[in-house]
Amino acid sequence: MKKKRILLHICCGPCAIYPIQILKQEGFEILGLYYNPNIHPLKEYLKRKQALQTVSKEYNIKVIYKDDEYNPINYFREVIYRENNRCFYCYHMRIEKTISIARRGKFDYFTTTLLYSKFQKHDTISTLCKDLSRNKGVKFYYHDFREGWKIGIEESKNLGIYRQQYCGCIFSEFERYKNELKT
Ligand code: SF4
Repeated sequence: MKKKRILLHICCGPCAIYPIQILKQEGFEILGLYYNPNIHPLKEYLKRKQALQTVSKEYNIKVIYKDDEYNPINYFREVIYRENNRCFYCYHMRIEKTISIARRGKFDYFTTTLLYSKFQKHDTISTLCKDLSRNKGVKFYYHDFREGWKIGIEESKNLGIYRQQYCGCIFSEFERYKNELKT
């Protein structure tokens, strides 16, 4: 029987590990999509990309790297003047792009590694995936990947890949390190 094809939006290497394991177990043919204009600065984007390249090699999956669309302006245009709700617009930007590529590529399903992180707004992400994919001809595959939180962490340590210390945008970087201003 022909395998179902799934486009997996990937935010970073460590978060991709457990979802890839599950999707493989479920028998999907997986294509990854690294589309994250939210990540700041460029060097951080590249470090996360390199970690993902190690994971994709280890698990033998192909990944589209949308480096041509890595431009912080795309992120700021989404969130400016609505910074307090920035995560919603940040998810929206990435999920919308994923669905558009999945449609064009005639994928059966799409999903995102954002559903793996315990630090993301899980229900907001799954609702957005459902809402944005309605009548688009590509189905949203939901799985609560948070169940594999520890497995993903252990495996990322075994692989020796870069593990980031903040979510991605300049706001999250500031919130993570602002206490250092006091020292
Ligand atoms: S904190 Fe994370 S999800 Fe929220 S806007 Fe920043 S990068 Fe996007």
